[in-house]
Amino acid sequence: MSEKPIRSSRRSFLRKAPLAASAALVACGQAQEGNAPSIQTRKNFKWKMVTTWPKDFPGLGTGANRLAQTIGDMSGGQLEVKVYGAGELVPAMGVFDGVAGGTAEMGHASAYYWKGKHEATQFFSAVPFGLTAQEINGWLSYGGGQELWDELYAGFGLKAFPAGNTGVQMGGWFNREINALDDFSGLVMRMPGLGGEVLRRLNATVQNLPGGEIFQALKTGAIDATEWVGPYNDLAFGFHQAAKYYYWPGWHEPGTAMEAMINRTAWESLPTDLQHIVRHACQSTNENMLAEFTTRNGVALKTLVEKHGVQLKRFSDDVLTEIGRVARDVVGEIAAKDPLSNSVYASFNAYRSQSVSYTRISEEAYTMARALTEA
Ligand code: CA
Repeated sequence: MSEKPIRSSRRSFLRKAPLAASAALVACGQAQEGNAPSIQTRKNFKWKMVTTWPKDFPGLGTGANRLAQTIGDMSGGQLEVKVYGAGELVPAMGVFDGVAGGTAEMGHASAYYWKGKHEATQFFSAVPFGLTAQEINGWLSYGGGQELWDELYAGFGLKAFPAGNTGVQMGGWFNREINALDDFSGLVMRMPGLGGEVLRRLNATVQNLPGGEIFQALKTGAIDATEWVGPYNDLAFGFHQAAKYYYWPGWHEPGTAMEAMINRTAWESLPTDLQHIVRHACQSTNENMLAEFTTRNGVALKTLVEKHGVQLKRFSDDVLTEIGRVARDVVGEIAAKDPLSNSVYASFNAYRSQSVSYTRISEEAYTMARALTEA
């Protein structure tokens, strides 16, 4: 009953369509004569992206590659981004200055490497006993985090977006057992960010080596212990050939965010649609990297334990409780550094407190309940 009128109106449209199409073409032609045809005069951009990762390093370096590829694909080649591994254009720890100074338009890193620039950068990366991956994404997108990050980075001529996450990391590789807090005393350990500062308070000697330098340092005994990421990335570096014990959980990095940083002048020179493309390519990379780590960590853990005989060990409740106490002081002290650090700390901490109550009865309760069924 309803088909006839629809068919009839469709036929009616088809009969009129050629006329309508011609009219549109005429209108189009008129518009092109009167105005500059924006499609044909669009400027192409070629950007460089420097990274703190070895070129093509699994997960992190390949994540940066994927981000560049996505931007190129989404823009139909209008914005091409060429990726440089650590040391190719600037050193790993020179990424921040390289992008701020315009050597490259873009960088891929993690913000806690830049604590020497501003202490508050660390909140946009990882905080000991802080936010998990999904919580930090929540804070950045809906909790005021991105606005604070924009304010902080604007001071350096930069713009940043989250662009990857490792999920919960491992506690690290040790050449001796950690049974009590005193065992950290005198330990030489690689650990960046606030976690490193916590260890310093426990009388450890802390180093902030870039990824590519860790294996050699651990193998030669220049350091006694290191953290890096988790099974997937740690297996790639071969740390099991240099240390005996693999501790969990990674209290210092509960969901480390990667960043795409962009030189602000370069960012502002992009037309709005390309800015949207960069923003959404970062968002896509952010989600994709976490999916990759989530999948590959389980596979790599099995290889480490079953093939390489790695000894998994858990930090005791006493050790974790004491580290947590020191961490609270260390994180809290940042608030006193300057007004912006205080604002970032307050926002992060409020979000954390609010998250804890629901996470406790959702993610935490569920995974503990699931573990009961695995016993
Ligand atoms: Ca780490």
